[in-house]
Amino acid sequence: MDPALTAPIPVFDGHNDALLRLHLQRAGDPVAGFLAGATEGHIDLPRAREGGLAGGLFAVFCPSPQKLDFGSLATAGEIPMPPPLPLDLARTSAVAMISLLFQLERASGGQVAVCRSAADIRAAMATGALATVLHIEGVECIDAELDFLEVLYAAGLRSLGPVWSRHNIFGHGVPFRFPGSPDIGPGLTDAGKRLVAACNRLGVLVDLSHLNERGFWDVAELSTAPLVATHSNAHALCPTPRNLTDDQLRAIRDTDGMAGLNFATGFLRPDGRMDAATDIEVMIRHLDHMIEIAGESHVGLGSDFDGAIIPAAIGSAAGLPLLFEALSRHGYDRPLLEKLANGNWLSLLERTIG
Ligand code: ZN
Repeated sequence: MDPALTAPIPVFDGHNDALLRLHLQRAGDPVAGFLAGATEGHIDLPRAREGGLAGGLFAVFCPSPQKLDFGSLATAGEIPMPPPLPLDLARTSAVAMISLLFQLERASGGQVAVCRSAADIRAAMATGALATVLHIEGVECIDAELDFLEVLYAAGLRSLGPVWSRHNIFGHGVPFRFPGSPDIGPGLTDAGKRLVAACNRLGVLVDLSHLNERGFWDVAELSTAPLVATHSNAHALCPTPRNLTDDQLRAIRDTDGMAGLNFATGFLRPDGRMDAATDIEVMIRHLDHMIEIAGESHVGLGSDFDGAIIPAAIGSAAGLPLLFEALSRHGYDRPLLEKLANGNWLSLLERTIG
């Protein structure tokens, strides 16, 4: 029997936005809802268990007050980006989301763990606790002097993306544009370069997923750590600026880094449409390409659960086994499935956060 059908493979996932969804939830108790099983979104504890989601990078993303007009992607080919987010606004919402993660841990009675090292993650996974790692996507909450970075590190932060697609004092992000190249302007600022050096010193993963191409190569030049794009796909198959060119995938391979497959349909489909009616087959094509270029030890998952329109065929964290069943039918053997599901991320985190 297909081993993927007997028990879900434990998955450590490179990116989700569950904390943002809980932060924006208007009604009820978001912490209790997550633990007991919410009807909304892609991740809660029961569905994580059902699908084998054993842990992941849990992103803090500070939304702009201006609403994004996703409809304009279809009409104008681009979603206009809001202006830079002021530090005080970003810090207020970042602290609220970080607080939610610690509330989840405390209320869970050992079922959710905030992990600060690869050893913490392995220990949590061994007990069946959801192994969360605190990540911030776009660090508008951090000052140019990096004082708040030290505070966040002490609180458990182990991963950050210098920019989300919105520009900030550290660098320039890629727009939501289709089709488009990630090569859209200047790279890291001086503050951005200091941030990368500080992350290297502390052992904080630097996530390149939303950085523009110049910024990516700036980090490649500066950083002593492996290059990581937690939730980006192959630009060769879906030409959005959010995806990785083959040169970027090769740089990830050459630094013993990682790229995580993003389930966002707009970054999977050759036509760039955000459409839940997207077949699992297109996810397999991206994995084939990413593995071909970056190598099978440098690819994992970065689902974007709770942050994107994902294929309805997966539906939520509970649907993860369907991806592995499809990959198994496609010819991926069990050792490769385990590397993609968790082995590559765990080994990368050993090399970055320790
Ligand atoms: Zn993202």
